[in-house]
Amino acid sequence: MAVIGAGPGGYHVAIRLAQLGKKVICVDRDEVGGVCLNWGCIPTKALLHVGEVIRHIERAGTLGLKVPKAEIERETVAKFTSDVVNQNVNGVKTLFKANGVESIRGEASFKSPTELEVKRDDGSDRITARQIVIATGSAPVDVKAWPRDGETIINSDDAVRLNRIPKHLLVIGGGVIGLEFATVYRRLGAEVLVVEMMPQILTGTDLEIGKTLGRILKKQGIEIMLNTKVGTLEKKDKSVRATINGEGTGGKDETREFDMVLVAVGRRPVTDNLNLKAAGIEVDGHGFIPVDAQQRTTVPNIFAVGDVTGQPLLAHRAMKQGVVAAEVINGDRSAAFDPVAVPNAIYTDPEVATAGLSEEEAKAAGYEVRIGKFPLAASGRARTMNESEGLIKLVADAKTDLLLGMHIVAPQAESLIGEGIIALEMGATLEDIGLSVHPHPTFTEGLMDAAEAAHGKAIHLINPKPKTPVGAGS
Ligand SMILES: Cc1cc2nc3c(=O)[nH]c(=O)nc-3n(C[C@H](O)[C@H](O)[C@H](O)COP(=O)(O)OP(=O)(O)OC[C@H]3O[C@@H](n4cnc5c(N)ncnc54)[C@H](O)[C@@H]3O)c2cc1C
Repeated sequence: MAVIGAGPGGYHVAIRLAQLGKKVICVDRDEVGGVCLNWGCIPTKALLHVGEVIRHIERAGTLGLKVPKAEIERETVAKFTSDVVNQNVNGVKTLFKANGVESIRGEASFKSPTELEVKRDDGSDRITARQIVIATGSAPVDVKAWPRDGETIINSDDAVRLNRIPKHLLVIGGGVIGLEFATVYRRLGAEVLVVEMMPQILTGTDLEIGKTLGRILKKQGIEIMLNTKVGTLEKKDKSVRATINGEGTGGKDETREFDMVLVAVGRRPVTDNLNLKAAGIEVDGHGFIPVDAQQRTTVPNIFAVGDVTGQPLLAHRAMKQGVVAAEVINGDRSAAFDPVAVPNAIYTDPEVATAGLSEEEAKAAGYEVRIGKFPLAASGRARTMNESEGLIKLVADAKTDLLLGMHIVAPQAESLIGEGIIALEMGATLEDIGLSVHPHPTFTEGLMDAAEAAHGKAIHLINPKPKTPVGAGS
């Protein structure tokens, strides 16, 4: 078996195939671990952790602790981040070795549906494989009008290296990546403006959750302009002049100067060097490789997993798809990637985590919705941690009480959402969540209270009058 790409999707396929007794070669043109370990999930979260510590230091006074202001040693922060990356990369290398996965560094392209050419620095190889899995991931979209130089006009690959801390940072794009870097650089001392052309940050996320986060980020000093576009970027020595127009500028052209601009407007699938034609694979209108629930492409012996197969571009989706592909290759006919929901965690401060349908999506799908909400201001645990900003929101089907979506803005939201995913997969109702004994004092109690609130029964809230009688549908 051959796997192209050793990111989360590729290394999951390779390791599971090896566990199943297959002979596996995994080819990557770069370091193993892919975007996730080297440029994405892991280094950003290390940087965000540094930012969180800075925030705790800034607020220590309110807890009665006299702590001097955090002094930032940029090189040491960058080293901490790259050490974390290396530990994770070495972990994957160890797993490859322990499982007998042969790892090759080189760029792979198809010669035929069963043959690959791998170009290395010192030559090239031919690999013949019965099955091939494409796990080549995605890359940042570069905008021609805003040419990246890696110094003043940068993308996420540059931002994560922390080569410089700007004084004035413009972030183009209020999606997950833009907001996570806005949080990092704000904490490190930059003035940050986020410009988003859509009417909300985190487009596609529950509107109320996006608004709640937006309010909190603004309080932290991050300026956000919605329904606003960046036009030209004009470079002058070490600064960039940006023209901005939209709701955020009162509909007028505004020119502002920044010493760094992060372009975070989306990602594209990486298929350009694969020579997919030789394999007989067609891509869709956005360049992604279409697959079925068993991760098969239109060519029976070729599979694809992860970002290269389309939205949502998330590491845990790639990982699960990788395991499914391996099981299917091994002959498991029941293996399929068919989740009720793929959770999404956004590591702003506080974090956002969502799973399932937003209120807007549930309504658009024709549900009569029942909403349960719990503001963190009412949480005892939140008060003990001096962290009372945030919201827990549950979306359910009013007819059956079935949970449809869980949406959280709170510290540790990325872990809290685990309860939502189990509840969604197991078909839990709000009543189930409300009846389950949750530990006290924790943020998870907020999930229980939100479920009870939907029935007008929350103890820690003044309950709004329920539209349907208590217990109806349960
Ligand atoms: C800044 C940032 C933060 C992120 N944070 C999160 C997060 O917190 N949580 C989360 O779930 N997701 C996050 N993501 C997304 C996550 O990184 C991706 O969803 C994930 O890496 C996709 O895995 P993959 O295996 O599909 O591809 P990738 O990780 O992109 O790996 C693909 C690999 O294929 C290799 N490759 C490509 N073409 C070839 C070729 N022709 N020959 C050989 N090798 C090739 C590449 O070198 C690469 O190593 C983040 C992304 C970014 C950019």
